[in-house]
Amino acid sequence: MNVAKIAVASGKGGTGKSTVAANLGYSLAQERDVVLVDCDVEEPNLHLFFQDGRSESPVTTPVPVIDTSACTFCGRCAEQCRYGALLVLENDIRFFRELCHSCGGCSLVCPTGAVREEMEAVGRVWESRPFPHLRLISGVLDVGEIHSTRVIQAAKQAAEPAGLIIYDAPPGTACPVVETMEDSDFCLLVTESTPFGLHDLELAAAVAKKLCVPAGVVINRSDGDDAETMAVCSRHDLPVLLRIPFDRKIAAWQNRGELFAVHMPQWQGRFTDLYTRIQDIAGGSR
Ligand code: SF4
Ligand code: SF4
Repeated sequence: MNVAKIAVASGKGGTGKSTVAANLGYSLAQERDVVLVDCDVEEPNLHLFFQDGRSESPVTTPVPVIDTSACTFCGRCAEQCRYGALLVLENDIRFFRELCHSCGGCSLVCPTGAVREEMEAVGRVWESRPFPHLRLISGVLDVGEIHSTRVIQAAKQAAEPAGLIIYDAPPGTACPVVETMEDSDFCLLVTESTPFGLHDLELAAAVAKKLCVPAGVVINRSDGDDAETMAVCSRHDLPVLLRIPFDRKIAAWQNRGELFAVHMPQWQGRFTDLYTRIQDIAGGSR
């Protein structure tokens, strides 16, 4: 089968997840159209690897507005709100915007029609084309906003339709990571051979398993002693698909914010081979 959507995740930040996503995207874009989507909307950084002008579009979400002249202060909306965003007093009603998840429940239950919804901005989607066959889309959450999944959804929608999409997932294993991985054909888990790295790898692997997304591992900054990582991978039935060694030349390009696959072309072939292995595994798992 043709793998159309790959999520790159790690369970925690700093393991080189964005590096893998960016170099994989660049390498595959030498021969085909690829869209890279930065779903780490609280701290997007994929754009730092590329230089190009970008366009921007807003991401909005519905937020309730209450007409106190129509409100009878019956309290049903506050009972309905499981996020505690509404407080109904005897003759007043308070709305805590920062707690509201835009579920729309309060407007549905209000018996007097006192709640209407208005669209408010929660973030942006940036789009650029740094290389002829590569589009880069970044979700950017506004400071202080909680609607990260809304911005991730908007960034993913902006990527469609495309032959091959690579999602750079946020760190951790919470809702934004689930939102990113959810409709992927494969999950590439990036890890380092450290005790913390392995613990987070296991957590991220558990999310992929729960979502029934086949997964494989990239060991980044490998010092050659990966026995413990291999044992964890074999315990969880995770194939190790690529090792990126700790290499001063790679580190130097990284520190300059550049893609090592541009300067070390042998890596373009290794990332292309990685995609072939992903296709073989995902195809065999369906
Ligand atoms: S449900 Fe409607 S009428 Fe009742 S307190 Fe809420 S806004 Fe007011
Ligand atoms: S939209 Fe949902 S989360 Fe927001 S105030 Fe209404 S019930 Fe609460």
